[in-house]
Amino acid sequence: MHRTTITQARELLQNKKISSVQLTEAMFARIDQVEDKVQAFVHLTREKALQQAKDADARIAAGEEAPLLGIPIALKDLICTEGSRTTCSSKILDQFVSPYNATVTERLNKAGAVIVGKTNMDEFAMGSSNENSHYHPTKNPWDLDRVPGGSSGGSSAAVSAHECVAALGSDTGGSIRQPASFCGVTGLKPTYGRVSRFGLVAFASSLDQIGPLTKTVADAATMMNVIGGKDPRDSTSADVALPDFTRALQKDVKGMKLGIPREYFSGGINPAVEKAVQESIRTLESLGMQTVEVSLPHLDYAVAAYYIIACAEASTNLSRYDGVKYGYRTEKSDSLVNMYENTREEGFGEEVKRRIILGTFVLSSGYYDAYYLKGQKVRTLIKQDFENALEQCDVIASPVTPYPAFKLGEKLDDPLQMYLADIYTISANLAGIPAMSIPCGFAEGLPVGLQLMGKHFDESSLITVGHKFQQTTDFHSQEAPL
Ligand code: GLN
Repeated sequence: MHRTTITQARELLQNKKISSVQLTEAMFARIDQVEDKVQAFVHLTREKALQQAKDADARIAAGEEAPLLGIPIALKDLICTEGSRTTCSSKILDQFVSPYNATVTERLNKAGAVIVGKTNMDEFAMGSSNENSHYHPTKNPWDLDRVPGGSSGGSSAAVSAHECVAALGSDTGGSIRQPASFCGVTGLKPTYGRVSRFGLVAFASSLDQIGPLTKTVADAATMMNVIGGKDPRDSTSADVALPDFTRALQKDVKGMKLGIPREYFSGGINPAVEKAVQESIRTLESLGMQTVEVSLPHLDYAVAAYYIIACAEASTNLSRYDGVKYGYRTEKSDSLVNMYENTREEGFGEEVKRRIILGTFVLSSGYYDAYYLKGQKVRTLIKQDFENALEQCDVIASPVTPYPAFKLGEKLDDPLQMYLADIYTISANLAGIPAMSIPCGFAEGLPVGLQLMGKHFDESSLITVGHKFQQTTDFHSQEAPL
């Protein structure tokens, strides 16, 4: 039962073949079986989940048909849930209990979801491997010696290991797509502004977006219907009509144009990853898509621009953790300033501190124009590159990462290597466009993702292409050998 997709679970539940309590119990039995090895969660909300499942069963009995009614979902631990902990996998928020729900949490509740728990992540979503978690690293279900990716690695591993039917993650520079690719699941970063960020703990506010990690593209469409749309509590959420994303599943790809960016295939990719991506492009051609070569000439500057802008925003966003308002406070202090210093020194991990320092530096007087302002200008050029390229095609295809999941500890001493591997994902955040990773093959026995990127607010085209691909391939239904 734990292997079910949202689409399958919905049918079983609505036809009363199973109850939500049974499904939720099966999910926790699975968690008990594999969680020791995978460690995808920071904490579980077992009792609350069983209560939600009972409520869902009552709603089903009363004839309700909400899209996620009775379905077990996991949330990345930076999405606020009223009355339970939201830690961001940081010591500084270890005991923090949010007094309110994020908008996405409310929307999931309304849709009838059962929340099984909160998933592990790199501290404050800064990282690509889950090794920056204050608690423990999550393991990749395909190979327990390898990382699941990050920062939404707990969510991707939980979906891949069938510890939940689907999950939410967040993506600032690839944090949904890269772990989706490493764990062989589907991950969608929506257009900036499509999903409310109210109650999402901020990393870099102009880049952060919440999105689904699922077993299929069809499930991602259902999740998007639930979480998308304008929210008066987030002024950056866009007042753009929310389509029924499941309609995009019926569309054909014949005649659609697939852009292949020249610069994304110009070296530095693991040959087996490149082969899987190229083969999947051939598959899309055989389905009737027409490929056109496009150019995204400012790719080389994307990593630098991203790490300037993201760190700048992080340094201001994280100034609120001062030991006064909430969260951890040092035991050792003899003055107010000293209390701030010790709280932050003890409460934040290495990577978070590195970014606060970098961000403070690029925003400081004398350096602001040279770094931050320049970064913003490069960001505009990258956005224009995508606008130009997407005039010639409907969807752009590329790799998600240069290599498959790496070994735990392998890149921990070399932050720059870790940053450089974000090369294919961060541009979509800088441009604000939607982007998705779908399983497209294997390299060295590990899953590989294909990235599809589209026009602002055109998640539907990604869903159409991704779903068609999943109807003709079975990479997404391969099981991690747990
Ligand atoms: N790996 C990127 C970083 O470390 C992306 C993180 C994210 O998307 N949250 O910043």
